Amino acid sequence: MAETTVFEKIVAREIPAEIVLENDRIIAFTDINPKAPMHVLVVPKSAQYRDVVELAAGDPGLLAEMVQAAQAIARERAEGDFRLVFNTGELAGQTVFHAHAHVLAGALGEDSLA
Ligand code: ADP
Repeated sequence: MAETTVFEKIVAREIPAEIVLENDRIIAFTDINPKAPMHVLVVPKSAQYRDVVELAAGDPGLLAEMVQAAQAIARERAEGDFRLVFNTGELAGQTVFHAHAHVLAGALGEDSLA
């Protein structure tokens, strides 16, 4: 069994987060180390997918729900346009192995690739 990630602890309310959207399948909260004026993580509550490739194969509908959530958050908290980043694998900078989307908006420079 994989180690419990920080995102599972946020879902379980074991550690605090600034939650901006939540439903039965998804939780979204502000990134603790923002790379853009708006930087929100959209996370499936299920810990069974370690990255977006597994998620897309296992539950493409849930991935689509995450994209819709990203749009809703960017409309509510920024101008509406947004960048969606899925770091996939250690060499690409993934540090939390629980699938998640970085939603970035605002003045996006090259250093805002999360
Ligand atoms: P990277 O750390 O390279 O961005 P990931 O794509 O795995 O790798 O993203 C994990 C993200 O989770 C990071 O942007 C990090 O700032 C964020 N993060 C880690 N712990 C917390 C936390 N407790 N609350 C909010 N965001 C967190």
